[in-house]
This record gives sequence, structure tokens and C-alpha cells, in this order.
Amino acid sequence: MQTQLTSVFANTNKGQEAEAILRSCVHCGFCNATCPTYQLLGDERDGPRGRIYLIKQVLEGSTPTTETQLRLDRCLSCRACETTCPSGVQFGRLADIGRELIEQEVKRPWPQSLLRHLLLHTLPYPSRINALIKTGRLFQPVLPEALKHKIPIMNQAAACSNKHHARKMLVLAGCIQSVASPATNQALAVVLDKLGIELLSADTAGCCGAMAHHLSASEQALQMMRNNIDAWWPYVESGVESILVSASGCGVMVKDYGHLLRDDPVYADKAAKITSLSKDPVEVLTKALSGKDWSQLGQGQRIAFQSPCSLQHGQKLAGKVEALLSSLGFTLLPVKDSHLCCGSAGSYSILQARLSAQLRSHKLEALLATQAEQIVTANIGCQLHLSTADQPLKHWLELVAENVNHV
Ligand code: SF4
Ligand code: SF4
Repeated sequence: MQTQLTSVFANTNKGQEAEAILRSCVHCGFCNATCPTYQLLGDERDGPRGRIYLIKQVLEGSTPTTETQLRLDRCLSCRACETTCPSGVQFGRLADIGRELIEQEVKRPWPQSLLRHLLLHTLPYPSRINALIKTGRLFQPVLPEALKHKIPIMNQAAACSNKHHARKMLVLAGCIQSVASPATNQALAVVLDKLGIELLSADTAGCCGAMAHHLSASEQALQMMRNNIDAWWPYVESGVESILVSASGCGVMVKDYGHLLRDDPVYADKAAKITSLSKDPVEVLTKALSGKDWSQLGQGQRIAFQSPCSLQHGQKLAGKVEALLSSLGFTLLPVKDSHLCCGSAGSYSILQARLSAQLRSHKLEALLATQAEQIVTANIGCQLHLSTADQPLKHWLELVAENVNHV
């Protein structure tokens, strides 16, 4: 695609990055076929090609409007378009650059600004989330239907081994997951313990920064990244093998620290090292289980896996969890349209509630049609978004940990 960025952007790192991405797009439109919002709304401007064109116009000097902002707000950042694109267009990075620019130029109505401010100052902080959930539970009976299912169904962590091992890995506790599903990282510790690996956690690490990053609060996001790097650095120096992130939405963010902090004179090298150590648990377990026979673990239980966009499109790990669970003796059932987003997408389920509810309903229909004994996922956002009182979802690591005594 031909571009003529204004000199204001053309001479900046972000402008040059955006220009290279724009030039890689050949405008074929294949990406529209797998874009959830294009499928729901049928408007070119609600698909990736149209959004690329809108961002291009802004970078070339057009004044963005509330309409431009709306079309980008409706994007889930699911990156299904990246998986489909034959030209390797990095839509996610371009959307981040475009959103930040438009955020600076288009003033939002105050209720929207207030809501975004509240999200930025509650969801990334475990103690504030805890207080919010407790208050929500208290008032749940009188809440509108749309809000009732947004109060997380919390699970409890089982007792976990504290055995020391020579092999050590670090885990991100995270923000929402540490409050709503502590069982996930406990399960990871149980499985790793069985494999002779000790799981450590840094007390002062916190939110990965994804929420702030996707709401265009760049400085808040970068500060969260620097905080985590500081918290992890002593462990890195002591030789931990990997930094594990069990929520795939946070994992895709931590894997991006090296890129996002590449121009930071103090943190660039450290961030690149963090990126090189960062792994989704499926990457580590697939390797650690190679040559071991754990094929009796699952005992044929019929499972549906809800593959998060951040895992399949963001981290490019499509099919890895399914393959691992199959090798462990679970029966994996095919899920219709498994490449499509469930509508959770960080704060999307709150900020774009109508579209999110439609996607949730489609995803639940596809998952329940499998008639699986259990539905599992790999990201806390999808887990909370899709759980119902009758069918709570769990992380796939919990499933493995619950059955680990079969091997
Ligand atoms: S599929 Fe790729 S190259 Fe084609 S329009 Fe979409 S982003 Fe551009
Ligand atoms: S990131 Fe997802 S919602 Fe956004 S344009 Fe790409 S496919 Fe569509």
C-alpha cells in the first residue's frame, strides 16, 4: 500500500513502524473473512482492511473523528486478521499506534472517559479488584441481568507443594487472576513439582500492563512493565530458566516487553532478556514431558478447549494445548469456529458490551454443542467471561493437576 505520512509522524519511531506495516498490506481483504466484528456488522470500516485504511488516513494528515475512534474501539485486538493475512501484516501493532494517536486528538464524552479512568485504576490492582468483587457479590441480587454474570465465579487454590528443586522457574501472579483464580498458578506449581521444577513468584510484581496498553495509557503500561522487570531481575540474575505466564492475555504482553521498551535507555536490554525468558506453560510442559509417558493421565475424559485469541493469534501457539492434552490421554472435541474471539478481550466486555455479549453467546453455543464433560481455556479473561453457574470454566492446567496422580 502506498503511503505518504506527514513529516510529524514520518520522523518518529512509531511513524516509521506504522509506515512499514502499512506498506506490507496489499489491500486484498482476505482478513475480513475471519474478523469477528466484520462478521457481526458487515461494514468495511468494522473490519481490518477498513481500519488499516482509517489509520493510514490519520497518519497522512486527516483529522480523526469520533467515527474513526468508534471503528477502532470496536476492534477486539484479537489478531485473527494476522493469522489470516497472507502478507504478514502486523495489525495489532498498527492498531496500538493508531489508537494512541486518535486518543490524543479526539476528546471522548465524559461518561466514556470516566469509565476508562475507573477501569485503569481498579482492574490492574488485586486489592481493588478484591474489594470490587466483594461489593458486587453483596449487591448481585439487585444488579441488572447484564451485570450479574460479570461478577467472577471465583475458585479456590488447593494446597500446593513447597518442595525445593534445583530447576527453578518464575511465574507472573498477575492482577485479576491472582484474585479470581489463584488455583491456576497453584496447579502449575503442582505439575512442575511432579517434573522436578520449583515455581517461584516475585512478591512485588503486578499487572503485566496489558489493560493500560490497550486503553492507550502508554505511560502507565510502561511503568507497570518496568516495575515487573525490577521485581523479576534478581531472579533472572540467579538463573531462573523461564518466566511463565499462565494467562495467555498477559503472556502475549510480557513477550512484547522487549519491543515496547526498545527505546528505553535503562530498560531496553533487560526487557529483551525478559522477552527471551517468557513462556506460556504449554511451551515448557510440552518440552518437559517429551520422552515421558503420561498418556494415562486424562483417562479419556471428553474435553472442549476454548482457545484464547491471545494464545492462538497473539502468541502463535494454535493447537499446542490441544496436542498436549491429547497426548496426556484426554479426548479433545472439535469446537466450531474456534478461531473466533469469545468477546472478552480485556475491558472490551465492559466498553463494548453489546458486541461482546453477541460473541459470548456464539462461543457458548459452540462450546456447549460439543457436550464435553469439561470446558477449559488458557486465559483468565475468557474463563470469567464464559463461565456460568452451571458450567464454570477452568484453566487447562487445573485439569492436568487434578489428574496428575494417575501417572
Ligand atoms: S489480508 Fe493482510 S494484506 Fe490483505 S487486506 Fe488484510 S491486512 Fe492487508
Ligand atoms: S484484531 Fe480482531 S477485531 Fe480487530 S480487525 Fe483484526 S480480526 Fe477484526
